[in-house]
Amino acid sequence: MDFDLSDEEIAFQEELEAFLETNRSSEVMDHNPEQLSQTVDTPAKRGLMAGLAERGWLGMSWPAEYGGAEKPGIYDFILTETLSRYGAPQPGKGVGIVGKTIIRHGNENLKQYFLPKIIRAEVEFAIGYSEPQAGSDAAAMELKALRDEERSGWVLNGHKTWTTSAHFADWYWVGARTDPGSKHQGITVFLIPMDHEGLEIHATWTIGDERTNEVFFTDVFVPDDFVVGEVNQGWKYICEALDLERFAMMPVGPLEMKVEAFCDWVRESECDGEPLRQAPRLRSKVAQAATELEVARMLQRQVIAGAVKGGIPTVESSMYKLFMNEAGKRLANSALDAMGPAGQLKPGVEDAPLDGRFERSYRYTVVDTIGGGASEIQKNIISRRGLGLPKNF
Ligand SMILES: Cc1cc2nc3c(=O)[nH]c(=O)nc-3n(C[C@H](O)[C@H](O)[C@H](O)COP(=O)(O)OP(=O)(O)OC[C@H]3O[C@@H](n4cnc5c(N)ncnc54)[C@H](O)[C@@H]3O)c2cc1C
Repeated sequence: MDFDLSDEEIAFQEELEAFLETNRSSEVMDHNPEQLSQTVDTPAKRGLMAGLAERGWLGMSWPAEYGGAEKPGIYDFILTETLSRYGAPQPGKGVGIVGKTIIRHGNENLKQYFLPKIIRAEVEFAIGYSEPQAGSDAAAMELKALRDEERSGWVLNGHKTWTTSAHFADWYWVGARTDPGSKHQGITVFLIPMDHEGLEIHATWTIGDERTNEVFFTDVFVPDDFVVGEVNQGWKYICEALDLERFAMMPVGPLEMKVEAFCDWVRESECDGEPLRQAPRLRSKVAQAATELEVARMLQRQVIAGAVKGGIPTVESSMYKLFMNEAGKRLANSALDAMGPAGQLKPGVEDAPLDGRFERSYRYTVVDTIGGGASEIQKNIISRRGLGLPKNF
């Protein structure tokens, strides 16, 4: 068992770190990142992505015919993790989810249109599966897509919830119901320009201070060319994409930074003139957090090992997401317990320990255990697909 990177992989990581050092800026890097907070939502962040693209660092594992370097998937992982350690935005949605699904299932038109744009960092996506009555059970989606033979396309009407990125993305990757007679074999995935006539976007603010959105569809026409893969087979693509999401968009870096910050705080702080580092209960909490970080890292390696072999490691992705998100929540709880009443002061408030970092983390980590599939749903996947236990819904 060899967990070390090869010389070539280390050389890439160092080159990337040198680039990020040169481009260090608080405009594009968040020094207190949370798991899902690193979106490419400003021109400056797009600029950083364009810089990565210019160096050929986006889609490194993609086939050469689509602009990739055909490198092993470990390079995509090194990119994502290194960016996350700098609090830089993540390229996961386009390169890791939409791009990979188009490569597997998209028609030639979609490949020609989107893949060059994705690999040059010229396009941002929003992902629309959830609806008011379809969250954990996303296959219950009801957004209606009716066939329009005359115009060779589909007309979409309905309502999506929780579409993160809809307010700045260029394109919408949307699941809609094309056959009301079949739950899982009646969904199709469409690609729609985010500024399309008939789309209305409303903000929803989360407990973690992040914006997500509701999107309303009124007679939105989508030509056949922008149907992903086969009609009524969308659920299969969505499941694959969700497995990729749990991995491609969830680096361990933010947890690592928070564990380090908590350790440093315990090492350097005092209570009633006594150094906190001498308090047995806090030493135990720090050791627990450091151990959980290592477990998260190992679970992540299992996912990478499966992905590098070309598979989609469903059960491993769920185990990783479940453990890492719950570990993040436990860490925030420990930090707030240790900080006492002052821990409740928000970022920017005078005297807030670590500038309120764990106050925010306490709120944000709740969101982590919901976005991308709730913890309970990850447990269901592990039980059913990993352990062969019966279906419970
Ligand atoms: C910040 C944020 C960003 C998001 N971004 C997106 C996005 O960009 N695109 C998108 O499509 N969606 C997005 N989502 C939606 C997300 O995927 C759903 O919120 C999630 O799947 C849960 O669905 P729900 O909110 O409807 O909760 P529900 O499904 O109503 O669940 C409520 C509770 O019941 C539990 N539960 C439900 N079913 C079961 C079961 N069978 N067994 C055991 N427990 C169960 C859940 O775990 C949860 O605790 C986002 C959500 C958040 C919070």
